[in-house]
Amino acid sequence: MTLCELKERWKQELFCRGRCCTCDSERVWFNGIRLRKATLRDGGRSTFVADIPVRRLLCGDCSARFCRPPTGVPTRAHYQPCVVSEAVVSDVRDEKVCDSAVAKEHGCHRRTLLRWVARIAHLAEPAALLRRVLF
Ligand SMILES: [Zn+2]
Repeated sequence: MTLCELKERWKQELFCRGRCCTCDSERVWFNGIRLRKATLRDGGRSTFVADIPVRRLLCGDCSARFCRPPTGVPTRAHYQPCVVSEAVVSDVRDEKVCDSAVAKEHGCHRRTLLRWVARIAHLAEPAALLRRVLF
């Protein structure tokens, strides 16, 4: 999904109430909109987006306040999983590639990239992960 398509989807999602995430009530009211920032993948490159609208909601039964994550922005972290996965794969797939170049390409600091690689290396044996990436 391109960034333009995502922006259209975000506009449509602003009018979606859904159910309360705490008590499952249908009495959910709009409680404002906040703008957040994130880096997303758009057409093969990482793009900083400064104006992602997030609808704030309020439950009419239990008074819970909550937000639903916009499509394509599933986590609260700035760098979304699509960026992290692409950066880590780019960094570990080729030994000759420079960490700084990969980090710059994805708009993050070199230490951030290395932290992602270390975190993912703790999930499983690196050889097993590399096998999944390549095949
Ligand atoms: Zn509720």
